[in-house]
Amino acid sequence: MRVLVSGAGGFIGHHLVKHLVAVGCWVRGADLKSPEYEPSPAHEFMLLDLRSPDSCLAAVQGVEHVYHLAADMGGIGYITAGHADIARNNALINAHMLEASRITGVKRFLFTSSACVYPIRLQSSPVNIPLVEAAAWPAEPEEGYGLEKLFAEKLCQYYREDHRLSTRIARLHNVYGPLGTYEGGKEKAPAAICRKVALAGDGGDVEVWGDGEQTRSFMYVADCVEGIVRIMQSDFTGPLNLGTEESLSINEMTDIVAAIAGYRISKKHDVSKPQGVRGRNSENSLLRRILGWEPHTPIREGLVHTFRWIRDELRRAGRIS
Ligand code: NAD
Repeated sequence: MRVLVSGAGGFIGHHLVKHLVAVGCWVRGADLKSPEYEPSPAHEFMLLDLRSPDSCLAAVQGVEHVYHLAADMGGIGYITAGHADIARNNALINAHMLEASRITGVKRFLFTSSACVYPIRLQSSPVNIPLVEAAAWPAEPEEGYGLEKLFAEKLCQYYREDHRLSTRIARLHNVYGPLGTYEGGKEKAPAAICRKVALAGDGGDVEVWGDGEQTRSFMYVADCVEGIVRIMQSDFTGPLNLGTEESLSINEMTDIVAAIAGYRISKKHDVSKPQGVRGRNSENSLLRRILGWEPHTPIREGLVHTFRWIRDELRRAGRIS
């Protein structure tokens, strides 16, 4: 099986490439950049800007399956700072990747969508309503990033209906784990909190965005990779949640990371910082029914691996002892 992973220089894409190579696929990676923390094991790695149609054609040439993960994205600070560039970049990438896959006769195309497609009105309480797939419509997604993801889901559906391109859609909920960006503005909450706790040390202060009572569910990256591959192999073509149903607040997550570190810390809340929707959780009934499987790594276990990796990176950089 010859496959393309777009976004192979990114966090999930790099883990996916490692998995697909390990199970015997021939893998081409494509991205603007190489992976940040270790070399890619892809058989071929193309440095390409996938906003261009020609780059997309080069990337999909000769492959049967496309795992399409490339996207302009980051944590809540990044995706709320501006909407024009993110929406434009992702609209171009997604439209050209689908069209290139149609032209070259790709057999299957998996798109990584996001929980950001769900209506804001359903996520105003920390005691959240579990989000079933059908709840995405009538639409009221997050501006920019979320709205574009929802449109790209529809584009996948249209290409399937009009051009018989066999598409799959995974709506990912907050993925974390080792080898993910942990600073610079594109990092997500789990990595940011692990970094802040590691740098704070015992007795230190840890800045938490908002009042910390906002809730989310978090999926360990190994579960995410397994889920993506299972969804690609399934016959189900509609959007599927891929996340855990284990919801917790950012304050609770900070306390878990501090306990893993063995530090007593003080949380300092900065309510001027963006915190996103108030409460969000995955609802996995459909996922369980379709796959007979769901992500299962407990948050505490996944955070142990993530914290240790980030702490070791900071030590290697000489920033902590
Ligand atoms: P990431 O930012 O680490 O990876 C995305 C990759 O896409 C990056 O390496 C980036 O360089 C690449 N890219 C961006 N613009 C490009 C372009 N013009 N041409 C080529 N490559 C380009 O993000 P990730 O966390 O690995 O996310 C992978 C996918 O999963 C994305 O589609 C993202 O929207 C989706 N997703 C992720 C999460 C999460 O919690 N990480 C949640 C929901 C959805």
